[in-house]
Amino acid sequence: MFESLKNLLKHFTGCQETTSASAAAPDKSAPGTGSPPTQPATEGFSEKYITLAKFNLGLGSIGPDNRNDVDPKTVNEMYQAIAAGLFNIPVTGKVPEICVDGRTNKDGSRLSAPCAAGGTLSIVYGGDLGGSSAAPGIDEIQLTAQTISALKGKGHSTGVHGDDHSSCGCGACAKAPTIYQHITERINEMASLVSQLGINLTDSEKESIVQQAKNRLSQTGFFAEDRAAVVQTAQDNGASYEELVGKHNELGIALNTKPGTTVDRTAIRAKYGPQYDVFVVDAWAFGNAAKDINANGSEADEQRIAKAITLQNVATASVLGHGSLRIVPIA
Ligand SMILES: [Zn+2]
Repeated sequence: MFESLKNLLKHFTGCQETTSASAAAPDKSAPGTGSPPTQPATEGFSEKYITLAKFNLGLGSIGPDNRNDVDPKTVNEMYQAIAAGLFNIPVTGKVPEICVDGRTNKDGSRLSAPCAAGGTLSIVYGGDLGGSSAAPGIDEIQLTAQTISALKGKGHSTGVHGDDHSSCGCGACAKAPTIYQHITERINEMASLVSQLGINLTDSEKESIVQQAKNRLSQTGFFAEDRAAVVQTAQDNGASYEELVGKHNELGIALNTKPGTTVDRTAIRAKYGPQYDVFVVDAWAFGNAAKDINANGSEADEQRIAKAITLQNVATASVLGHGSLRIVPIA
């Protein structure tokens, strides 16, 4: 599945390169026509990248249209540079470990590790939504402890985060019930978005994931009332912890399919300014996580879990993010 995503994104990138190369060609072949055409004045954010709004997604407020402290031209340059892979750095981890959150620790750094919405909690929720619902009695806290222990058993590092001003500073965790609800309500919109990225959900996969979300929403006490308790449980079971600072300044979603890499948020800020952040989704790592937490070894379950992790990431972006958030693929 993620091979096809990668190929498709490569294809997109290839098309863009071809277009710009052929656009540049007439200037070279006809020097008499004078200076190269000047770029039209950029007044808006690039239309080159798909927005959440295109799929009727983006209920939140984080996104470029709600910002008056950034220069659209700089934002568009940033999108291009990210898409070109200029900010990719190597990581050693193979499964999602830290959160997509664009913010940093107080010293401006982040752990260098693959990213998904909620860090390891993405695997907890994706594994739950995509699993074969063999564990109806379990609750979120138990599931968190169990998933972390399974990942540790496979030799993986795990991680979560909070921030410096909220009781549960990770949106993917704080809003997990809303995210499950959102999946039940907008599954077709989300499926349509991910199909544009080369990931196709079958009707039975959609049905199974939505049913599992509904089961959890109606299971009394599945979601912990104290959302911070989930992050604490992860830490108690050995997950690393980051305390991120400041407000959300994400201007896009970097969708990274280059295995063994993530996107360097610190380098982006250093180049464009401290208010230039992006969410980072290391989609290449989702399949690895699905493989390693799929208890029964069935190929169908593995595929469904990988897709459920993808949906949990899309749904989190849609709950927290504004429709103007661009998805910037890195292939
Ligand atoms: Zn988070």
